[in-house]
Amino acid sequence: MFVDKVSVEISAGDGGNGAVSFRHEKFVDRGGPDGGDGGNGGNVILIASRNENTLAAFRFHKELVAEPGGAGSKQKKHGRNGKSLEVKVPVGTVVVDVDGEVLADLTEDGGQAVIARGGKGGFGNAHFISSRRQAPKFAEKGEPGQRLTVILELKMIADVGLVGLPNAGKSTLLSRVSNAKPEIADYPFTTLTPNLGVVDVAKSSLLFADIPGLIEGAAEGKGLGHEFLRHIERTAVIIHVVDAYNDDVAKAYAVVKNELREHDKTLAKRPEIIALNKTEGLDDKAVKSLVAKLHKAAPASTPVVAVSAQAGTNLKELLYDVEKAVRAEREKAA
Ligand code: GDP
Ligand code: MG
Repeated sequence: MFVDKVSVEISAGDGGNGAVSFRHEKFVDRGGPDGGDGGNGGNVILIASRNENTLAAFRFHKELVAEPGGAGSKQKKHGRNGKSLEVKVPVGTVVVDVDGEVLADLTEDGGQAVIARGGKGGFGNAHFISSRRQAPKFAEKGEPGQRLTVILELKMIADVGLVGLPNAGKSTLLSRVSNAKPEIADYPFTTLTPNLGVVDVAKSSLLFADIPGLIEGAAEGKGLGHEFLRHIERTAVIIHVVDAYNDDVAKAYAVVKNELREHDKTLAKRPEIIALNKTEGLDDKAVKSLVAKLHKAAPASTPVVAVSAQAGTNLKELLYDVEKAVRAEREKAA
């Protein structure tokens, strides 16, 4: 479990000012007050959505600002209400203020919370007419919208785990396909951390975890792999990265698969995709024969995609398969 955490500045819209105005009519010496009220400022609303998986987008949009209300005008015209800003966040996002108080806990798809309320519009001078005061020359100002700093927190489960023998090309692959790195808090290992990357595929973004140090014997606690394996216990899909230059690609796959099985029986049954890596310098025939060997070693449902992380070959195809598999898993779970 990883914790994604971002701090965001939130500003609801200010209310519009009320107007000071008097009727102008022909033959009427002094018209009555007709200044309209200001419109209300927009709220800032967070909406939980299952289509969002990370808070990565907030690294680039740290300010959420709703529209202010329009000012009132003559002829008792009401100012326009400011539009509320609705922002999607992943299901499971907790919103806390700077003192650590929980403002919202968005646990359900479609759940909403108003995080900052817009200011009320001010009354125009038409509002203040009374028997004693026929011509009020004042109007109310709009209230300011709420402004606050909040921290969005999401406990994340990696969607995709990258496994493979050392030097298979896991880190290279991740750096090629991912475009943002979530800040990691609460991570128990200080010296070695799994590489995380957010990968945008189709309309969703997926969290990839590159599990380093997965070596033979990791399941018996020999390597560091054992500790890292815990982090992929709940991933939806596993990518086996296999070096095409390995003497025996089927064995390279089987060794890692065995580690997974020994760590946790269900892990070996998780949907998986094999990425045969480093194929850029090989001819088609050689690639085909390696792919066939992997097909034979893996369950029939396991796709095998020949890629080159370095040259960027076939990575789109790989991500397409990954996204499809993740979606299928999530739908099964829902
Ligand atoms: P990891 O241990 O699985 O994370 O592997 P790395 O990503 O660190 O890669 C190990 C080595 O393989 C590095 O020297 C990479 O440059 C190289 N490498 C990774 N991907 C490719 C590839 O597609 N083609 C070739 N020729 N080399 C690659
Ligand atoms: Mg690595």
